[in-house]
Amino acid sequence: SIVVTGATGHLGRHVVEQLLEKVPAEQVTAVVRTPEKAADFAAKGVKIAVADYNSPETFDGVFAAGDKVLLISGNEFDKGRPAQHQVVIDAAEAAGVALLAYTSAPGTLTAALADDHRATEKALLASGLPYSLLRNGWYNENYTENLAPVLEYNAVVQAAGDGRVSTASRADYAAAAVAVLTGEGHENTTYELGGDEPWGFAEYAAELSRQTGKEIAYNAVSVEAYTGILTGAGLPGPFAAILAGVDASIEKGELVVTSGDLSRLTGRPATPIAESIEAALKG
Ligand code: NDP
Repeated sequence: SIVVTGATGHLGRHVVEQLLEKVPAEQVTAVVRTPEKAADFAAKGVKIAVADYNSPETFDGVFAAGDKVLLISGNEFDKGRPAQHQVVIDAAEAAGVALLAYTSAPGTLTAALADDHRATEKALLASGLPYSLLRNGWYNENYTENLAPVLEYNAVVQAAGDGRVSTASRADYAAAAVAVLTGEGHENTTYELGGDEPWGFAEYAAELSRQTGKEIAYNAVSVEAYTGILTGAGLPGPFAAILAGVDASIEKGELVVTSGDLSRLTGRPATPIAESIEAALKG
């Protein structure tokens, strides 16, 4: 089987949907916390396994020898993601899976956000399992799904200076994962995944202006100011600090990906940010 954890998340949904275009539904297992959220998958014949990264025993019997598994990194920053991911790695090791692919972060990223990913990569390598590190760059949607304040104030506010970022859509990263899960020869690989053309926030603001007919400017602020803006908007302090740290990394060029791995794996160009803006504006 091909087994996908985090299957009811944004990325996981894309992965399962794209898998169903390539393999029979009965060969796909969606690992979810809340089966009600996976009712549409079950209706299509996808197998559903209920398990939680916080409860090792729930992973008993989820994996079988020979499975190809995609571990989608969790989003509970306060619960110790490396330990959560270790639960999945241990279960996969016990079962003897054929491949464990993991959605990581670019190898160049030094921001605090990358720490959990580096720790998980280390654990995965230590397991001795055949692995594939899918070092996902940033999503177009990180920006295009948060346009409300931009359109309200006619300003893109970031702390990334003139830095650029190689984003692609979640569907693109999902397609890369599907290529690895359904293809051959991906054992013990590391892919640096990102969009084809890095862009900066001044260009992003110009593209938003073009598409909306409004005058939207890029307001580059300091990391401190940006952290304050995010907490002012209601984000918890630690999470605001993490996001601001990402912008500092963007300014340093740490989220520019030059490998070409994403479009090579998917066999098509990555989705340009302009296309995701268009989709977001259409709602
Ligand atoms: P989502 O937040 O939409 O999905 C996270 C998934 O992880 C959900 O399916 C969620 O389950 C699952 N999950 C979280 N905690 C647990 C747990 N304790 N046990 C089992 N499952 C759990 O994120 P995306 O799909 O958009 O992105 C996937 C991952 O990529 C994120 O979790 C994060 O690690 C990382 N990420 C990457 C970004 C990038 O730009 N490259 C941006 C943002 C995140 P449920 O559906 O039940 O909530």
